[in-house]
Amino acid sequence: MTTENVENDAADAPTQTFADLGLDGPILKSLKSVGYETPSAIQAETIPLLLTGRDVVGLAQTGTGKTAAFALPILARLDKAQKAPQALVLAPTRELALQVCEAFERYAADLKGVHVLPVYGGQGYGVQLSALRRGVHVVVGTPGRIMDHLDKGTLDLSELKYLVLDEADEMLKMGFAEDVETILASTPDDKQVALFSATMPAQIRRLSQRYLDDPAEVTVKRKTTTSANITQRYLVVAYQQKMDALTRLLEVENFEAMIVFTRTKNDTETVAERLRARGLAAAAISGDVAQAQRERTIKQLKDGKLDILVATDVAARGLDVERITHVVNFDIPIDTESYVHRVGRTGRAGRTGDAISFITPRERRMLTAIEKATRQPLTEMHWPSADEVNATRLARFDDSITAALEQSDRISRFRDIVAHYVEHHDVPEADVAAALAVVAQGDTPLLLDPADEPKRASFAPERASRDRGRDDARGGRDERRGRGPSEGFTTYRIEVGKRHKVEPRQIVGALANEGGLARGDFGKITILPEFSLVELPSTLPPSALQRLGGTRISGRLIDIREDAGGPSRGGPRGGRSGGDRGGRYGNDRGGRYGNDRGPRDDRGGRGDRGPRKPRWD
Ligand code: AMP
Repeated sequence: MTTENVENDAADAPTQTFADLGLDGPILKSLKSVGYETPSAIQAETIPLLLTGRDVVGLAQTGTGKTAAFALPILARLDKAQKAPQALVLAPTRELALQVCEAFERYAADLKGVHVLPVYGGQGYGVQLSALRRGVHVVVGTPGRIMDHLDKGTLDLSELKYLVLDEADEMLKMGFAEDVETILASTPDDKQVALFSATMPAQIRRLSQRYLDDPAEVTVKRKTTTSANITQRYLVVAYQQKMDALTRLLEVENFEAMIVFTRTKNDTETVAERLRARGLAAAAISGDVAQAQRERTIKQLKDGKLDILVATDVAARGLDVERITHVVNFDIPIDTESYVHRVGRTGRAGRTGDAISFITPRERRMLTAIEKATRQPLTEMHWPSADEVNATRLARFDDSITAALEQSDRISRFRDIVAHYVEHHDVPEADVAAALAVVAQGDTPLLLDPADEPKRASFAPERASRDRGRDDARGGRDERRGRGPSEGFTTYRIEVGKRHKVEPRQIVGALANEGGLARGDFGKITILPEFSLVELPSTLPPSALQRLGGTRISGRLIDIREDAGGPSRGGPRGGRSGGDRGGRYGNDRGGRYGNDRGPRDDRGGRGDRGPRKPRWD
């Protein structure tokens, strides 16, 4: 196996383009409209290899741009005339499968007539079958449901050219090892295989040795440190609250000049425009902005005519402006090198600096990667409260009065006018001053109403539940019943237990696929002799529970229901068959599934449960 170590120092490396990697035509056009400026490290290494037909093992986690790394080379070589599926992506969960599908569709926006089909448990077969009959180019699915189609003879993989295993380690953890191997073995020998995994356990290495043909191994080497004079913090924020968070930070942080980094060119414009609409001196720069204009903007920033620059990584390359006291990662970067480069735009010339990163609940793995790469912990900051914002607003209000009082000429002119009013209207001077403040303030309220605070995002309560797990191990199983479920979770009982040789990962695999759950949705799993108890989010909608009703594990209908603490109800019941196969073959012992992917919906849904924690692993 050849190992390619990518050392991507964003400050020194010459800018590589997607065209340099061998992509062309409509794909480049789509990338432009998606707003990607330059390839991420994993993309830069993987895309040329895949385009030349090599098998690839990529050590990369979510947030590095790995989806585009495999999707773009597939799309570039797609034969639209072929009706049988030519690319298959296996993903551990329905959530990821859908995300990958969406990504394919975005990258194929300018290709016209490319059909991508998600195939996962919990969705009716009807839709999948009619799409398969019409012909699809790319199938993205969970292993269990793909196996079901293969068993039924409804998915023809005989002409498959590309097979991707996405988050391979997760798939194995969820008990899909045998399904994955069966799929690998029953597809054409000459297909190209790309395997992506965040970790490289022996099982994955063995899998790649067995089923991949002389694969190139790509890892993004982390070479970085950030300087100690920069305070690094992060704020857990739901995607749609980022603008609100930025506005608040701008109010409470004591900054001179700031760079706000976004991931795409389009977002630089949007964010800058919204800041300007709020009366702030902000401008956007990206690789699309002409050099002369870019230089003018930077000069304005240096001269203090501009306080906020919204930029992409490329546009801010090498930027050296002493006034920059703050860097805000509105979107965290796709690799740790970019993080280090971004943060290095502050704390120039021996000054101190502040770096604040917005992290959505599902991006917490990137936070760990950043902490590891920079060898510095980031401190979690809390959302600036209405009271804090109000305190700074009042302080600024006082300052503006003090500043106005210093303009003695103008004050003396207005003093006479006010005195005249007081005399003729018999109103206290303080009331007149307050009335003038109302005039000056206009319709915008001076203060925020603390009662109007929206709910804030946070990471899922992984550590808390894990810590409780250790207590359980010491205290014995019986104690658990008296303690109740972890915060934000409800305990459900399923009718498979030790006697049926069930393992936690089978439960996770089956429920995740049938119910559309993410691994992050699982709390504690306790396997008892006759049945098991599973903690699922209390916010689980009835429709998800209904879907789960038909799930089978080890051939048994699980008959899921809220745990009432009663005895086992015994034998199997009738019901529909065809649940996804949640790993009947694994031997993982784990009793608890950490929330490594965070709340399913970082756009507001469930990001507000449980205590916040600064670290996880
Ligand atoms: P992934 O690791 O594939 O889940 O991608 C993480 C995020 O990075 C997604 O929001 C992508 O849209 C985004 N992304 C992927 N590649 C690039 C790129 N070259 N430039 C900017 N953003 C990207």
